[in-house]
Amino acid sequence: MSTQRGSKITSIMERLGFHVKGNIQDLVAFLMLVPKRKYFLRRLSVQNIEEPYINILSDKLHPVIQNLKIAEIINETKTTRTYRLMADKAKGTQALAYFRAGQYISIKERINDHAVSRPYSIASSPQDALDGFYDITIKRLEGGFLTTHIWETWKAGYPVSASGPYGLMYHEPLRDSGTVVGLAGGSGITPFRSMVREMAAGKLNIKLKLIYGCSDGQDIIFFDELNKYAREMPDRFRIVYVFSGCLPRKDCPDPIEEGFITADIINRHSDPSKDSYFICGPAVMYDFVAGELEKLSIPRKRIRMEAYGEIKNPTLFKDYPYEAQGKTFTIKVHDGKDTITIPALASESVLVALERGKLSPPSVCRSGECQFCRTRLISGKIWVSPKNDGRRQADKLFGYMHPCASFPVSDLELALPLNTGRSCNKYSDTRSTPG
Ligand SMILES: Cc1cc2nc3c(=O)[nH]c(=O)nc-3n(C[C@H](O)[C@H](O)[C@H](O)COP(=O)(O)OP(=O)(O)OC[C@H]3O[C@@H](n4cnc5c(N)ncnc54)[C@H](O)[C@@H]3O)c2cc1C
Repeated sequence: MSTQRGSKITSIMERLGFHVKGNIQDLVAFLMLVPKRKYFLRRLSVQNIEEPYINILSDKLHPVIQNLKIAEIINETKTTRTYRLMADKAKGTQALAYFRAGQYISIKERINDHAVSRPYSIASSPQDALDGFYDITIKRLEGGFLTTHIWETWKAGYPVSASGPYGLMYHEPLRDSGTVVGLAGGSGITPFRSMVREMAAGKLNIKLKLIYGCSDGQDIIFFDELNKYAREMPDRFRIVYVFSGCLPRKDCPDPIEEGFITADIINRHSDPSKDSYFICGPAVMYDFVAGELEKLSIPRKRIRMEAYGEIKNPTLFKDYPYEAQGKTFTIKVHDGKDTITIPALASESVLVALERGKLSPPSVCRSGECQFCRTRLISGKIWVSPKNDGRRQADKLFGYMHPCASFPVSDLELALPLNTGRSCNKYSDTRSTPG
């Protein structure tokens, strides 16, 4: 063995009268380096080097794509359905990615050759994911592009492609108070349902006070289930229904309130001096509730809002350049190998224009937050919604944009990140039609 040879050389030299120590010992060790290395190389296994465990764990927690299929469809209200999704093992997804209650997944779907994505909060708990399912609860939108398609085509067994879990609206004990006040509106109840289920499973150790704005008494999502949890965990979970624009529901347990979720109501049902506030609902609700929290002088660090969502009408913003209103521009797109030119309505985000043009850049949050659609703007002018401007300063300086939060106000030229390996095409290409 080479190490033995090293010590042999040392002992021979010592027998010859050389006192081997210090530098000479180092020199001998140095001379033995190459034979030692050769010895170990000869003994190396011919097997491939194993994937490091950290990479395996990372792939499990943050998969690029999850191949799922619909296990069950539950009609919640007249406009809302829950789709229970499970891993499609035959398509390579062995288990659902674990997540934190409050996060969302991005659904990737192909509609008549248009690849689109939409984020949906996971309405079931992380414990449910370990037990084999995710729930997404979807409200059908009048004229909605994906929701109309979902209503018409999704049935049990239908294959669904989704991203891994994303989002920041989850309870983090190092950051948030032990009491969370959930301010929910309409389908914004979904991340809170995930939290309540996780609490009931004994996995999330918080107190949750839910203030739930409802505009239609007969269209309250998870009404029975939430009331059941409130009865079962009276010390940890309380729910206050706030009826706006409709009469309070007769079978609604106390306490109830009427009107919008105002500072008064928030003050009555929480402790603004120490609670954390999580907001999830339609865009108008974010703006209103944020103003009400400001009246209560709640510091920004105790407020978390779900991603704002895509801006549907940019002209409602004061700084929107009115000269662009009603116009159609062109976008010249370089995707690495091809260059194509597509039309773009001023009223729609650049991301929607790309999707209408049958391109499918990667996208997850559609709120300017996650950076997946980050693209280089070669030339032209865009308007970026102040609500969704998640660009870094350096990106602004060097001409990068988030197509989901940007609207064209002139003709544009873009270099798409289609070769990043996160392309929506990739999600869709792995799909097949339902059996
Ligand atoms: C973090 C987050 C979580 C969410 N969670 C939930 C949830 O739990 N439940 C829920 O119900 N909703 C949720 N949403 C909202 C959801 O993502 C969708 O916005 C909502 O379901 C409406 O989708 P839609 O496609 O039906 O409607 P829209 O997005 O309004 O679709 C209509 C729009 O589609 C575009 N369009 C039309 N034709 C085309 C075409 N050919 N190609 C491409 N685009 C076209 C146009 O811009 C049109 O305005 C969440 C949103 C966010 C940001």
